Amino acid sequence: MSSDRIFNFSAGPAVLPLPVLEQAQRELVSLPGVGMSVMEISHRSKTFEGILDAAVADFRALTGLPAHYKVLLLQGGASLQFSMVPMNLLGAGQTADYVDTSTWSDKAIKEAKKVGAVHVAASSKAETYNHIPGALTLTPGAAYVHITTNNTVEGTQWKALPDVGAAPLVADISSDALSAPTDFSRFGLAYAGAQKNLGPSGVTLVVVREDLLERSPASLPTMLNYKVMAENGSLYNTPPTFGVYILGLTLKWLKGLGGLTAIAAINQRKAAKLYAEIDRTGFYRGTAQKDSRSLMNVTFRLPSEELEKAFDKEATAAGLDGLKGHRSVGGMRASIYNAFPEAGVDALVSFMQEFERKRG
Ligand code: PMP
Repeated sequence: MSSDRIFNFSAGPAVLPLPVLEQAQRELVSLPGVGMSVMEISHRSKTFEGILDAAVADFRALTGLPAHYKVLLLQGGASLQFSMVPMNLLGAGQTADYVDTSTWSDKAIKEAKKVGAVHVAASSKAETYNHIPGALTLTPGAAYVHITTNNTVEGTQWKALPDVGAAPLVADISSDALSAPTDFSRFGLAYAGAQKNLGPSGVTLVVVREDLLERSPASLPTMLNYKVMAENGSLYNTPPTFGVYILGLTLKWLKGLGGLTAIAAINQRKAAKLYAEIDRTGFYRGTAQKDSRSLMNVTFRLPSEELEKAFDKEATAAGLDGLKGHRSVGGMRASIYNAFPEAGVDALVSFMQEFERKRG
C-alpha cells in the first residue's frame, strides 16, 4: 500500500503517520471484536466511549496535563475557537489582549473584536510578520492574553511562552501542538485544529483550565459553551467519531515513539537540516528572522518568482508535494510536522542542492 506514497509537505490537512493509516485501513470495515466500522457505531456505545476516553487519557499522559484541566474534542476548527474564546472568556467591560504575529492571529483579533474590547499588545505586521515581537504592552486586569504559538503561513514560532502575569494565557497551538514537551499549566486555554499534528480535519482540540469554565455565560448558544461541552465530556451531541478515532491512533503512535521528548529531538533535527541548506550559499533565503524560525513550517524564497515556480513544478515531479507557500505570501514552505518522515527532509535537501547546481 505504501510504495506509491510521495513526500507530502502540505501545511494542513497534512501527512499522517503511515502506521495510523494502515491500522485504520485494516480496521475500516470491522473494528476488532465489534464487527462494524467505527463510522457505523453509536457515539454512546461502550466501544466509542472507550475510544474517546483513551484518546483523552493518552493526551493527558503525553503532556502530563494537570488534573484541573479539561480536554475537549469539538468541531468547527481553530477558526470557531477565534469566536468561542471571546464569547466564553471575555466579559462585559473587560479587555482581551492579543499578540498579532500572523495572518491567523489577525483573524483571531477580527473575530474577538466582534465580541468585545481588544487590545493589540504587540504586532510584527509592519515587518511582514517575519519575527515574534519581544516586549508586550499588557492591559492590567485583561480577561486573557492570546498568542499563536506557531505561525503556519509566515514560518515563525515562539521559542518560549511569554510571561503575562495573572491573566490567563490563551494559545492557538494549531500548527505546533505536541511537537515538543509543553507545560500546559502555563495556559488558561489552548486550542488546535487537528489536521496538522494531531489527526484529520473535523476535530478541534481544546484544553481548558477548569476555573475558566465558570466564565461561560449561560446565555450562549449551547454548542458554543465550553462549560456544557466539558460537563458532557465532549458528548453533548454527536462528535466527529472517525476523526476522534484517528486522533486516538495518532496519539498512540506518538506514545510509541517515546512521547514528546522523542518527537522534539526528531523535529529539531529535521528543521536544522533544512535551515542549514537554506543558509548554505545565499541562493535560498529564509523569510523568518533566525531567532523566530519555526520548526514546523520552514519558509524560504528563491532569487525570483520564476525560479520559485520552476522549483515547485520540478519538486512536485520528483515526488515532493505541497511546497508552494501560502497564496497570501508566495515563496516556498516546507511543512514538516510530527508525522513528516526525516527521509523526506533528506530528499528535499538533495533536491535543493541539485536545483541550485542546475539553476543557481
Ligand atoms: N490557526 C492557525 C495557526 C492555523 O494554521 C490555521 C489553519 N491553517 C487556523 C488557525 C485555522 O484552522 P481551521 O482551518 O481548523 O479553522
